[in-house]
Amino acid sequence: MWTLVLNCGSSSVKFAVMDPGTGEQALSGLAERLGSPEARVVVTCGGQKTVTEAPNADYARAFAALLSELGRLDLRRQISVVGHRVVHGGQLFSAPALIDEAVLEGVRACIPLAPLHNPANLAGIEAAQRAFPELPQVAVFDTAFHQSMPEVAYRYAVPETWYREHGVRRYGFHGTSHAYVAQEAARMLGRPLEALNLITAHLGNGCSVAAIQGGTSVDTSMGLTPLEGLVMGTRSGDVDPNLHDYLARQADLSLEQVTAALNRQSGLLGLSGLGSDMRELEQAAAGGHGGARLAIEVFVYRLARSIAGMTAALPTLDALVFTGGIGENSGGVRAAVISRLRLLGFELDGAANAAVRGQGGFIGTPGSTPALVVNTNEELMIAREAAQVLAAHSHSQTVQPQLAPLPEESTG
Ligand code: AMP
Repeated sequence: MWTLVLNCGSSSVKFAVMDPGTGEQALSGLAERLGSPEARVVVTCGGQKTVTEAPNADYARAFAALLSELGRLDLRRQISVVGHRVVHGGQLFSAPALIDEAVLEGVRACIPLAPLHNPANLAGIEAAQRAFPELPQVAVFDTAFHQSMPEVAYRYAVPETWYREHGVRRYGFHGTSHAYVAQEAARMLGRPLEALNLITAHLGNGCSVAAIQGGTSVDTSMGLTPLEGLVMGTRSGDVDPNLHDYLARQADLSLEQVTAALNRQSGLLGLSGLGSDMRELEQAAAGGHGGARLAIEVFVYRLARSIAGMTAALPTLDALVFTGGIGENSGGVRAAVISRLRLLGFELDGAANAAVRGQGGFIGTPGSTPALVVNTNEELMIAREAAQVLAAHSHSQTVQPQLAPLPEESTG
């Protein structure tokens, strides 16, 4: 049986039909620019791409197009469960959940924590429930993996009432990716995940590192929102918490303007003045562009500093894992980070680092602290988790509770 994986954003839906056991993809695709005249649905199946123009399509029309494609490929009746990516589960969800009214209520309750993402995720779930009424649906939360963080890692040093009354604490994101690459790294290291202390670095448009002890997250660099921590494509990462106040007074900027700039005009884009795309910046830096060079240097320095800081969360360090578009593809970033982490026993094997291009593999010299590249696969992780939730639920439905016979004396 296949699992349909859905990642619903405000104007797009990424989807894939996957075998949770093997990772085989029957189809994948993207409904993009939803709500605009340019809306379209792109489905890739067996190397063939089908583009359906769907002007002004909403989720319902996008799912109708997906359904007709599933029907055409005779896949519709082979799908057993739908897995949804949901960004914020707050403190309510520490594991994936079979969606019912209470789970929807929980996702709604987390909207203040993710005002852009959770409403889109909810709208996607509700449209999917209407499009696939016969299928169970599972929510897989970006934050859930990090709910295992100890209080010392998740609390901010702010008034306690902010925490108790408004949930002001660190949550962390990219949990699905960190969990997946930790599992894969254990497989590549040939050791049980339960015995490993890992630092995983998810470096894409958004970037975060996580400290993972025995398969559970014990710290991560993102916080209340995905703005905290590392330098990212267009996000600043850590800045002085007084910045809003300073810019309000000095530049007459509103809260909203500063927040928007920290999210969309900062990071690699802000530093370089050129763009947010690491590939483009590497080319420009090689051509002598000073802003691009500085952006990459700050990105690398802050990343290395964060990785070193994460070691405070672990008793020892067995391996560092790179993933995400930059982590998987930029040998230059990996080399520069490793060269800043010699104190932790890392040493780069230049040839191995160049050879992992597009695949996973080890990039350190023999005898150094292992560093490896793992290609992330969030869709597969969502498919696996959805299938596991469904199996656990079916099991609990079919296994009748075994009632112990009442003791003699209590019957009389
Ligand atoms: P993601 O969000 O995981 O898709 O990652 C996007 C980031 O990966 C962008 O900054 C891309 O420029 C970067 N990226 C993708 N391919 C490469 C590459 N070959 N070299 C350097 N960066 C890359």
